[in-house]
Amino acid sequence: MNKILSMARYLNSADAREALEQIISGAEHKLILVSPSLSLSSRLFNRIHKAAVKGVHVRIIYRKNEARKEDMDRLKSLKNIDVKFSDDLNASCYLNENEALITSLDLRQAARSWDVTVKIKLTEDKDLFDRLRRDVENLYALAHSHNNPGHESDIKTIISSGYCIRCSTRIRFDFNKPFCGYCQESWSIWLNEDYPEVYCHFSGEQSFGKTSKAHPVLKKNLKKAGELNHF
Ligand SMILES: [Zn+2]
Repeated sequence: MNKILSMARYLNSADAREALEQIISGAEHKLILVSPSLSLSSRLFNRIHKAAVKGVHVRIIYRKNEARKEDMDRLKSLKNIDVKFSDDLNASCYLNENEALITSLDLRQAARSWDVTVKIKLTEDKDLFDRLRRDVENLYALAHSHNNPGHESDIKTIISSGYCIRCSTRIRFDFNKPFCGYCQESWSIWLNEDYPEVYCHFSGEQSFGKTSKAHPVLKKNLKKAGELNHF
């Protein structure tokens, strides 16, 4: 029988802690850490720091009032890290571009708790991985930015119907603003409208360089995007 069935793996508490560190260290472009409470051991903080210095775009989502101020200050001092909070958050999961953990293990310091964890690899369980990734990116798009608490009500009304053409984060569909805040910043260093990007603003699928700031939607999706978004 050649067909590969679900390859998700169950991890015990000790293995889960190790797997979390591997997800952080193994990230090459993207790292998303979702945890209701945010209280980092220096070991974890150093790994996150290393990833950010390497150029990994780190996004952290936690539940309001469950982060230590010193952790927030340390994280905010780093480049490449965006921290947001969501009042509704009640789950922990950690993803880089290749692997994900769905787990009861949160980012509390000295976690010696009994936890259950399932590990998913993109190459083995693409469908499950993609569904988790979409859900998490949606949560991120709707979460509140830590730096702009005054804009909470604006953020709540965002309709997440587009994707950042550089990192595929879910954002509002806007033909003139096809980047998330983070990628907009990095794009604005060069302001090159024709620089080849990675994703379609409308569908979120890979564009292999066929999208750009000037042409954020893949040709084949233009008609549908136009009908749904009235441009
Ligand atoms: Zn982006």
